[in-house]
Amino acid sequence: MKQTTLGKPITLVGQGLHTGTPSKIRLTPAPAGAGITVQRMVADLHEPERLTPLKVKNTSSAIHVEVDGRLVKSVEHVLAALYGMGVDNVNLQVWGEEIPAMDGSAWPFVKAMAKAKIVPLKTSVEPMRLTQTMGVELDHRYVMAFPARRLETCVVVDYEHPAIGRQLFHGNISPEVFAGQLAKAKTFGWASRIKEQRAQGLIKGGTASNALIFGEGGLENPRMRTYPDEPVRHKTLDLLAALALLGGRFMAHVVAIRPGHALDVMFVKKVYEMMQGGKA
Ligand SMILES: [Zn+2]
Repeated sequence: MKQTTLGKPITLVGQGLHTGTPSKIRLTPAPAGAGITVQRMVADLHEPERLTPLKVKNTSSAIHVEVDGRLVKSVEHVLAALYGMGVDNVNLQVWGEEIPAMDGSAWPFVKAMAKAKIVPLKTSVEPMRLTQTMGVELDHRYVMAFPARRLETCVVVDYEHPAIGRQLFHGNISPEVFAGQLAKAKTFGWASRIKEQRAQGLIKGGTASNALIFGEGGLENPRMRTYPDEPVRHKTLDLLAALALLGGRFMAHVVAIRPGHALDVMFVKKVYEMMQGGKA
């Protein structure tokens, strides 16, 4: 299998989910071996920096990475789109401090990538394989990985909210599965927490058109829903975003029980350290 990049640059504009400020990104083609790099588009332009799990600085409500000494916020959905669609090499240029929220899913990024075409490069993919079972645990939440020949994920969510409850999504991850079964799954939140989150400076760009909002009576904006079990699909999408930080195609059977950004990133940090130390 050959490494890939985009056929031509793509630009997306919008506003950040948390900051609510306008932002723009451009994804530009990159050579084999470059991986996913990020470049802040500021006056004194710096070199693109390759993402690794060690660049993550905050996981409390999104995945924020540090590039050129500054935070680039909410990178997870564009990373999920790149990883899910099998784009190995790309430079992500960012104007503003946060990636545009778009519709709260990975779909707008996927659509733009498909339009620009995902093209093969001459160099082959070197898959990242595990040789042993490993995992992480945090507050009775778990992510475990078992050696496998391809990436297969099994994600379980379990919420007290009756409109969600327990959901399970299992799949062999491929661009077809990602585009057809995961990419449109929107982020979701709780009506009861909106005030408190806004007071903390979060979700200033959150609206009823870029997140599913669950209230006391159930889902408050059902017309925005794509899948009946959308929360577990979105959690799978977020898990793939964390895997993108590894900088290669991770071949394992990953089982995640009640995952979230903090746990997902803890998991990829551990995998990354094992791979670096030759102990995976
Ligand atoms: Zn998300």
